[in-house]
Amino acid sequence: MSQINVTRSSMPSFEEYCNEIKELWDSRWLTNMGVKHKCFEEGLLSYLNSDNVKLYANGHLALENILEAYDFPKNSEVITTPFTFASTTHSIVRAGLKPVMCDINKYDYTIDVNLIEGLITEKTVAIMPVHVYGNLCDVDRIKEIAIKHNLKVIYDAAHAFAVTYNGISSANFGDASMFSFHATKVFNSIEGGALFFRDAAFSQKLDQLKNFGISGQESVSLIGGNGKMNEFAAAMGVCNLRHLDEEIAKRAKVYERYCERLGNVKRICLNTIQENVKTNYAYFPVVFDGYKYSRDEIFEKLIAEKIIARKYFFPLTNTFDCYKEYEFYGAEKTPVASYISGRVLTLPMYADLALEDVDKICDIILQ
Ligand SMILES: *Cc1c(COP(=O)(O)O)cnc(C)c1O
Repeated sequence: MSQINVTRSSMPSFEEYCNEIKELWDSRWLTNMGVKHKCFEEGLLSYLNSDNVKLYANGHLALENILEAYDFPKNSEVITTPFTFASTTHSIVRAGLKPVMCDINKYDYTIDVNLIEGLITEKTVAIMPVHVYGNLCDVDRIKEIAIKHNLKVIYDAAHAFAVTYNGISSANFGDASMFSFHATKVFNSIEGGALFFRDAAFSQKLDQLKNFGISGQESVSLIGGNGKMNEFAAAMGVCNLRHLDEEIAKRAKVYERYCERLGNVKRICLNTIQENVKTNYAYFPVVFDGYKYSRDEIFEKLIAEKIIARKYFFPLTNTFDCYKEYEFYGAEKTPVASYISGRVLTLPMYADLALEDVDKICDIILQ
């Protein structure tokens, strides 16, 4: 039997992709904002009903670039959470800023909005919350706090592509939102990312920051890096976007099957879909909270059957070795994140996961 991984990349048919990239053999324009790049941008703006977007080689560079674009004073503080992928925390530190770790809430694992104001100091410039597993943060409350204290809000929305709240796309909350189009995400462009942003005045600066700061044929006005998305990645994005709604509908079937099988088991806590939210079923996190087997035992039992689940997110970013010497190091200040991180396992979840395989996974957990 072949291995079941935590995810499996969505792809268009071979023919559809070949057809999409065919013209590149005539134009020989392979990167630097070509026709596929433009087509992908337009497709995204229309799909997410948004006004401003920039595409990147990956999501992480989008986070780095928006922090750079704001040009905050060195050592300014950014309130964020450690229950996330390395990228969120790294982007803040790499921008010369200080992450201030806020705990998560135990209901949807996003930032605990009741704790944010207690962490604000005169050095705080921004909040970088994470829409964990595609669960949206309390965007209303965060907006209120940000307005009251004059803070920027930059969402790590890597998990939340195509999620809406009261019909509003996750691209349209805060000052900016980053999506990752990495191969493992709900929607991919092989590698890739996008930044949606509110203030159109940032457009030119962002264009320059992702292209070495080049501002004209003979002028370089910023010390930018290289974050450009190439034409082959953009073409994959264009193709995958055509099929995204179908893919999410298939994910919903997998989600329902898992819920049927695991929903009423004592000491197994499932992630519930939030009110007024249309989800993308990005992940299937399960918290083993005093269940007859620990999270790590379940993880091993699944591996023995060639099923690869993932401990997202363990370890917390505030316990990474590279942060040992940093002020925010240590999980004591984020006890809920620490609790969940020690007990959560994300089970395989992708559009083509057979329901028989879901049953098999559940049988192993329940036996
Ligand atoms: C995937 C991911 C990123 C980074 O995205 P890349 O496109 O791989 O750079 C950032 N934050 C979170 C929460 C992610 O899951």
